[in-house]
Amino acid sequence: MERKTFQLGDIVLMKKNHPCGSNEMEIIRMGMDIRIKCVGCKHSVLIPRAKFEKNMRKVLRSAAESEEGNSGGAQEI
Ligand SMILES: [Zn+2]
Repeated sequence: MERKTFQLGDIVLMKKNHPCGSNEMEIIRMGMDIRIKCVGCKHSVLIPRAKFEKNMRKVLRSAAESEEGNSGGAQEI
């Protein structure tokens, strides 16, 4: 079974919709528990890591990937 990878700042797609209708969450704190913020209503919730991994479908936007997107045009100093 493939292990889900995620990191701080990632936008993830959850299996269940938030009451506000959005199912996209941003990871804002990592630890024993994960704090995620709803992209739709900005509400944040703290959930155990195991539960988060179970409820998460996939990473939509990785924080690391968006940094790489900035690499166009090297700057000379
Ligand atoms: Zn919400």
